[in-house]
Amino acid sequence: MLALDTPVQFIKGIGPQIAEKLAEKRIFLAEDLLYHLPFRYEDREHPRSLNELQPGEMASVIGEVRGTALLRTRSMPIFEMTVGQGPVSLKCMWFHGTYLKDKFKPGQMLALYGKVEPSRSRSGSFKMIQPQIEILPGPDEPETALLESGRIVPVYESLGGARLSSRWLRRVLHTILESPGPRVAETLPAVLCERLQLPDRASAMRAVHFPPQETSLAQLQNASTPAHRRLIFEELFYLELGLELKRRKMRERPGFALATGEPVRAALKRVLPFHPTAAQKRVLAEIVSDMRQPTPMRRLLQGDVGSGKTIVALQAALVAIENGHQAALMAPTEILATQHFLAARKLLEHTGRKPPYRVVLLTGSLDDERKRANRGLIARGEADLVIGTHALIEEKVEFANLGLVIVDEQHRFGVLQRFKLMKKPNAAEPHVLVMTATPIPRTLALTLYGDLEVSVLDELPPGRTPIVTRRTPDERAPEVWAFVRKQVQAGRQAYIVYPVIEGASDDQPELDFPRDEVAAPDVKDAPKSTAKSKAKKSASLFEEKNGKPTLKSAVAMFEALRATHLSGLRLGLLHGRMNAEDKEISMRRFQRGELDVLVATTVIEVGVDVPNASVMVIEHAERFGLAQMHQLRGRVGRGAAKSYCILMTGGKVSPQAEERLDAMVRTQDGFELAELDLALRGPGEFFGTRQAGLPDFRVANLLRDRKLLEMARREAQQFVEGADKQLPREAVAAVWAHLRAHWQRHYGLVEA
Ligand code: ADP
Ligand code: MG
Repeated sequence: MLALDTPVQFIKGIGPQIAEKLAEKRIFLAEDLLYHLPFRYEDREHPRSLNELQPGEMASVIGEVRGTALLRTRSMPIFEMTVGQGPVSLKCMWFHGTYLKDKFKPGQMLALYGKVEPSRSRSGSFKMIQPQIEILPGPDEPETALLESGRIVPVYESLGGARLSSRWLRRVLHTILESPGPRVAETLPAVLCERLQLPDRASAMRAVHFPPQETSLAQLQNASTPAHRRLIFEELFYLELGLELKRRKMRERPGFALATGEPVRAALKRVLPFHPTAAQKRVLAEIVSDMRQPTPMRRLLQGDVGSGKTIVALQAALVAIENGHQAALMAPTEILATQHFLAARKLLEHTGRKPPYRVVLLTGSLDDERKRANRGLIARGEADLVIGTHALIEEKVEFANLGLVIVDEQHRFGVLQRFKLMKKPNAAEPHVLVMTATPIPRTLALTLYGDLEVSVLDELPPGRTPIVTRRTPDERAPEVWAFVRKQVQAGRQAYIVYPVIEGASDDQPELDFPRDEVAAPDVKDAPKSTAKSKAKKSASLFEEKNGKPTLKSAVAMFEALRATHLSGLRLGLLHGRMNAEDKEISMRRFQRGELDVLVATTVIEVGVDVPNASVMVIEHAERFGLAQMHQLRGRVGRGAAKSYCILMTGGKVSPQAEERLDAMVRTQDGFELAELDLALRGPGEFFGTRQAGLPDFRVANLLRDRKLLEMARREAQQFVEGADKQLPREAVAAVWAHLRAHWQRHYGLVEA
């Protein structure tokens, strides 16, 4: 066997030219090829009989070419082929299949993979539309025949066109695995593999590419054979090992051990305007217990929208303040910072403490003199609680004695681990509490956030009535507006949200949120498909510009609604391109009940708390991501009044969008929605892999392999602790050496 670090160009059958192609796919070494695992397997040892196929199933079958024909239909050329197995036959067709015309000869054996469809022909047999196809080697090619048939055959994603296909990979991998020389070096201690009943690395590698005869096809397909598990475990084990080291390093850093005696507890009680939920009590206890340690807290507080994170944060701040430290609360927008500031001031005033808590606001829209003055207060230690936007607090503020930093509504994951606060070298570090309303399955969070501990607020405050969620097509807009009017007449307030700010055409929507938050396919697909259906109803509020369909926008609809359906109501406008002052005015007027309806873009998405608002209308809901809609819906249902979320669709709704909308109607559980979002988009898109600092896994899949992830985490912890006394010293040293050598290349998360 070749050494794993042999550059691919020295492998038989690969020269400099192909090596260059492979490099484009980030495949440089023999090892990289070995880690290009099959995504599917076909049992060509016990091929399915055509008789036993079931319509609707995905099946792989083997048959003989009986006849072919190229049909020139009016719309397109269709290539048809009849594949036989004894007396039974299967019809296959490929649209635009001219390129297949001369590829097949009667008598050739084929392996086909595709969906089984009932055929309309009288023979009552089945057909496959555009199946994947491989010509099996004939009797004159005995060598490749062994690779292509008579066994469970792996199917690979091509590494470059028809040339570097599955077939090519089978040959190359065979060459690698059969060549004499050094073996695939073991990376895990034998004792560990034995205990976990995992095969050694070399056998695992061989078994995933050349599954032994008795291997379960089902296990192969879902990557749960012992061989797969072994490779996945290895990858996750080293990931967790690196993260565990990072966590330990963090624990060695100096922080502030805060006291939580009676005076502190009394202060915590005094600030509460209501009875905390059991979940609030529990997470506060977790936070406080961290803050008592002499090492800096790094904790993530996950709580669905409306679960009451703010008061917990405020209590944490009080622990710092009562210990003579300052606390900073950072919010992603000015609106939120201001809202927090007003709420905090009110709550803290009510405590009646003498001297009173000093709360200071720091946002970009304060005038310079004010900003300077506030910075002075902070630097001199005359401010206890500083509330502001992330940017402002992170960059430019010098604190006298900062003990706690709270980051609110952090759901852009990437930013998480990177706050840069001004701090003197070697000084003790403040505790950090990060809050997010984006629920992430726990094991994923553990890995994603690496060195953060996780607390979960999994209970809503009492008295919330479920939000009634309905979806409706545009055509029924007048009913929706009538309903909004009725709610306003009953003293309630409403939000109406649009995906774009102003008159943007579908080509260039001026989204008021980062594009990557929307499931990408919709944005791309929609323009083409909506063009026709929209053209017909141009007489409505949403007509076209230059023949292009336009999305309804916040600005246009604000004007239109004010003039028509919602005339007489007090409407306000809020979007990301308004200047900070205007934004704040709109928001504050809405908060004070001076506006009935707030027409907005997703700038209102995060955190806004107006309990009297009971209606959330989302237009073009088909364009919003699941997490985003859930956040928006969380803006209502915050008071005692019955609340409504109306999802209006104004374009073609893709099947994916359909699933999102259905899910919104079906459940209000943020975790359930997050799981679905994850499943619909895949971890990469969900987290924005790169941005999240999450590694690109070679074999593992965080969704599929959660169990193994937990196991890897446990084992990594034990390993670092040296708990397994059976492990020989050399084995331990080898693990560390492997981590050092591979951490950067494969996980790229931190310096080991
Ligand atoms: P989020 O977790 O989304 O930040 P908030 O902290 O804004 O939620 O709380 C949502 C609303 O619920 C606020 O109006 C808050 O005052 C209220 N609230 C929070 N905790 C409780 C509780 N234990 N009992 C009653 N109301 C609560
Ligand atoms: Mg909040």
